[in-house]
Amino acid sequence: MKTILIANRGEIARRIIRTCKNKGIRTIAVHSEADASMPFVREADTAVLIGPPPVAQSYLNIEAILKAAKENGADAIHPGYGLLSENGQFARRCLEEGIVFIGPKPEVMEEMGDKIRARNKMIAAGVPVVPGYNGNIATVEEACAIANEIGYPVMLKASAGGGGIGMQICHTDEEITKAFQSSKGRAKAYFGNDDMFIEKYIEDPHHIEVQVMGDEHGSIIHLFERECSIQRRHQKVIEESPSPFLDEETRLSICEAAVQAAKAVQYTGAGTVEFIMNANKEYFFLEMNTRLQVEHPVTEEITGLDLVELQLLIADKKALPFAQEEITARGHALEMRIYAEDPVTFMPSPGTISAYQQPRGQGVRIDDAVEAGSAITPFYDPMIGKLIVYGETREEALDFARKAVEEYQIEGIKTNLPMLAEVLDNDSFAKGVYTTKFVQQMKQTTKN
Ligand code: ADP
Ligand code: ADP
Ligand code: MG
Repeated sequence: MKTILIANRGEIARRIIRTCKNKGIRTIAVHSEADASMPFVREADTAVLIGPPPVAQSYLNIEAILKAAKENGADAIHPGYGLLSENGQFARRCLEEGIVFIGPKPEVMEEMGDKIRARNKMIAAGVPVVPGYNGNIATVEEACAIANEIGYPVMLKASAGGGGIGMQICHTDEEITKAFQSSKGRAKAYFGNDDMFIEKYIEDPHHIEVQVMGDEHGSIIHLFERECSIQRRHQKVIEESPSPFLDEETRLSICEAAVQAAKAVQYTGAGTVEFIMNANKEYFFLEMNTRLQVEHPVTEEITGLDLVELQLLIADKKALPFAQEEITARGHALEMRIYAEDPVTFMPSPGTISAYQQPRGQGVRIDDAVEAGSAITPFYDPMIGKLIVYGETREEALDFARKAVEEYQIEGIKTNLPMLAEVLDNDSFAKGVYTTKFVQQMKQTTKN
């Protein structure tokens, strides 16, 4: 592979460009009119304007992206995360045009992207899944009957869901009746598919996920877990590895279950198997994300591996250069997602960044999208970047994290930096004692 087109934007486009530069690979950025002056456009060797700001006319415009790839001699396309990264149709069109899609097979993406199908596949493979209903639920009456059978509280979910969208906790028939049509409507609007299903709501939940990698020669390995329970709106804000909640036995067991899940679909490329874990450390399959994940740097820091480099190697049909036993994790890493959002309401807060100064120092890594003068527009995800810290111990990593959050200067827009500082200073968080309810509980305590 000599030339790679990046069908994405922002920090992940820059992240992919960095590895390509290290490997001597030429990069092509595609961008919308709104992103013309963003750093990722400048840093790529070639930049191609593909359309107006709305994603439907630019970053989701498959034919415009393929045209840019062909005209500029791309051998491969890296889809990043979000956008077209889990779109089987896009992967198929790349193959038709003789361009390598850096990701798994289209059929595997489609099978795992449909949560109902994925659940059924995992049940057949013997991977524990969240108790629930394994088919599409068409009516409110059916939904209530199923919820009563499973037992409240339940999670009403869109089968095609992602980004926490189209999901609702329900405690009563009344709540289901209220949520059903609106969740279905959101699923239709966001994913073009309104299939719904219901899972048991797991109490005191921990979101723990496992990074996996599979090559085209049948080797599938895991790169340990990431604890992602610090969330708001069912979306992650802080991730860390190792998980402070796991003991060695459970760690081994959940990592093996992830490999078993990946083997069931003969997975190739980088992927993440997400689990929900209860207070008794019983874990259940939630979903599989068939792409590089936002929080992949946490895994890179503790393993010393470059996951984008491994993705390129697999796409090049090479064998993974190590066996499971040769991979070791060392130290502790935390990632804080920096968003242009109101730190109290968690709603996006677009605008222009007037001044920007990143923290520096030992153990600090910044994967960001912006510079002073950059605009965070309402067209895209409001993530500004990610602050990643690495320490020999969790205490050291936390110490670096607190200092770095304090040093980070972003002026002109609201950001979630104050909320991140509050989490890092919290006693329970410092002790590593928290569930996915943490952020909500912290807000309630602050109010009282
Ligand atoms: P991760 O575990 O990598 O955070 P997510 O599913 O939360 O995975 O999403 C990855 C990225 O894609 C995030 O930036 C998220 O905001 C975005 N995203 C995911 N689904 C959607 C969607 N339906 N609409 C808009 N953005 C989405
Ligand atoms: P998405 O595709 O939007 O990422 P997920 O199924 O991965 O959806 O769920 C997102 C988050 O919602 C999880 O990380 C967890 O915090 C919460 N969640 C999802 N399902 C359950 C459940 N059955 N019980 C408790 N929490 C859940
Ligand atoms: Mg998820």
